[in-house]
Amino acid sequence: MQKFEDLGLSTELLNALSKKGFEEPSEIQRLVIPELLKERTHLIGQAQTGTGKTAAFSIPILETIDADKTVKALILAPTRELANQVADEIYSLKGEKDIKVLAVYGGASIEQQIKNLKKGVDIVVGTPGRVMDLMRKKILKVDNLDYFVLDEADEMLNMGFLEDIELILEKTNDEKKMLFFSATMPKAILDIAKRFMVNYKMLKVEKKELTTNLTEQIYYEVKQEDKFEALSRVLDYEQDFYGIVFCRTKSEVDDVTNRLKARNYDAECIHGDITQGLRQKALDLFKKKVLTILVATDVAARGIDVSNLTHVINYSIPQEAESYVHRIGRTGRAGQKGIAITFVTPREASKLAQIKRITKTDIKRENIPNVEEILNAKKEALIAYVDEIIKENDHNAYDQLATELLEGRNPQEVLASVLRHVYEDEFLPENYNEIENVKVKIDDKTRLFIALGSKDGYNAGRLLDLLNKKAKTPGRKVKDIKIMDKYSFITVPLQEAEFIIRALNSKKDSKPLVEKANSTGGNSSGKKSGGRRKRKSSDKKSDKKLNKKQDKGSSKRKKSSKKSKKDRH
Ligand code: ADP
Ligand code: MG
Repeated sequence: MQKFEDLGLSTELLNALSKKGFEEPSEIQRLVIPELLKERTHLIGQAQTGTGKTAAFSIPILETIDADKTVKALILAPTRELANQVADEIYSLKGEKDIKVLAVYGGASIEQQIKNLKKGVDIVVGTPGRVMDLMRKKILKVDNLDYFVLDEADEMLNMGFLEDIELILEKTNDEKKMLFFSATMPKAILDIAKRFMVNYKMLKVEKKELTTNLTEQIYYEVKQEDKFEALSRVLDYEQDFYGIVFCRTKSEVDDVTNRLKARNYDAECIHGDITQGLRQKALDLFKKKVLTILVATDVAARGIDVSNLTHVINYSIPQEAESYVHRIGRTGRAGQKGIAITFVTPREASKLAQIKRITKTDIKRENIPNVEEILNAKKEALIAYVDEIIKENDHNAYDQLATELLEGRNPQEVLASVLRHVYEDEFLPENYNEIENVKVKIDDKTRLFIALGSKDGYNAGRLLDLLNKKAKTPGRKVKDIKIMDKYSFITVPLQEAEFIIRALNSKKDSKPLVEKANSTGGNSSGKKSGGRRKRKSSDKKSDKKLNKKQDKGSSKRKKSSKKSKKDRH
């Protein structure tokens, strides 16, 4: 296994890396760094979010540019946060090298950025709009570049920056090398690469290694209207929760955040409609763990570098398996265990099956923590916390009051009353609303009916041959073959079933040869949520509880979150 020392880096960089705590290069870094140190080439680097792409291109840039305080590297990033993040990373990697790096982006004073540029800068990281503004003002010169970098290239294109990128590229000098980095490689990126680079190296880290096995993946079956309650339970159960709650839409993000705040959880949100200033503020607080819960959309959270999350919650299951991988890639990093929890409603069942199939990972069904489990967890945390205060002798400020309270009173009663006063009903089961049980039919296999049987000359072997020839279905994917006189049944993965149906039903005139067998399994649409057990319907009592909870939620949550935060530090 290669170390940073084996990559031919300068002592300045090696020192900076060890100071930063990087022990060994990530896979994409192992691929990219020696390549660029060996010879300057155009290059495309692809690796999943969180795999250290920034350092992969920054280290060679830092090692090879002739830092004369004219811009030698221009790095484009899609958002202000990412531009800042990349600039910070570069700054922390440069060590003692006399290299100036500057982030430029909209929504911040251009005058200050102009001032800084005029002082002389070697590396500029910027969003396309502001970079163009500064170019137009002739403050930013890009005609002497060694490197032009597109970071998060896929996201840049998603956000419609193609035209801007082209305009910027036109003004750059021919000799520069272009580096495109991205988590995914849609065709559009390869197209612009072909146009602008002609020849380039393509270095890619396969995705499969990236769903780290340190991330435990589970899902909860839950009704849409119970999702929030389920989220609260997870947050209460996991006393050391530090994670991102992913929602599908901006309004869902707002809704979840508002409800969390109403219950006094330390939550903030980021999404596209929130000003960059506020987003940055939320992110900073989150990074410092002042906030422990960040609610976000995929786009807003994309590329944001926060590591060591204990949890990723998919409040809404992502549309694409790709996003799922991105989301959960934020936990279970760097040797730390992480948990990804996906809430799945019956309607979302087929999405889950699809994600399981595409990512080839096992996502296990688990039960939402029940009230007893949560209360036990809270009690344990409280007891541990009290023990800690006693151990640290951190209670002197209250000793006098304690003495007064105990005077002529029963200590058991005093303590119970203080707890009642401080925690209200936080340790009582009434604090929680019921969650209705649902069964989600997650089945990524399906049973097919085939109108061919032994009377048509088929046995299992022949049927497999047919499937293999017509639909290229490998025999190992076919299970539970049952041959009857005039028809047969097989069980195959859902995706395979689509192939088979298409391949064998090609003749338009005849009755379909293959159909999904509706009597047995395989309906992954989740509409049939058979065997639903109702634990409790929402009666007046639980409505009342809800109101009560919302009314007085505030005081108690604060106390508990403070407590858990202190635990962490
Ligand atoms: P990407 O751009 O691929 O999404 P980043 O470059 O943002 O990933 O890196 C993600 C995190 O991993 C950052 O906090 C970064 O400092 C850290 N990191 C990068 N390389 C290493 C390494 N070799 N060892 C440890 N941490 C690393
Ligand atoms: Mg990145």
